[in-house]
Amino acid sequence: MKRTYSCPQCRATLNPNVKVILLATNRGRTGLVLLDPQPGNYEVLKAPELEFEEGDRVEFRCPVCRAALVSSASENLAELLFRDEEGNEGQVDFSRVYGEHATYLVTREEVLSFGEDASQYRGNFFGEAGFNG
Ligand SMILES: [Zn+2]
Repeated sequence: MKRTYSCPQCRATLNPNVKVILLATNRGRTGLVLLDPQPGNYEVLKAPELEFEEGDRVEFRCPVCRAALVSSASENLAELLFRDEEGNEGQVDFSRVYGEHATYLVTREEVLSFGEDASQYRGNFFGEAGFNG
């Protein structure tokens, strides 16, 4: 399903084409990264000046307003807004620890989790109810 992702602060669309575009800062360097819009796909395309190693906690910012995209559920998670073709809206939270695969699609009705490390932050989302993972 096609989802449109946007910045929680300025509402700018972050996947104007196929990939989600974010500013990333790690090890003192800042550059653009492209993330796959499909939850559970952890392929990352990064600018050559960026360097990520397992366990690094990458700082993600909106490329439009530069707001820090940190989740209220955990400081190890980044957070964007999403809306799908059927009008469903919510937030997507994903681990910003490089190499850790945990993603959550959160709507009013449910929380869907993706990635082999999803159990890590599952309890951080308003109780365990609604989880089907
Ligand atoms: Zn923004």
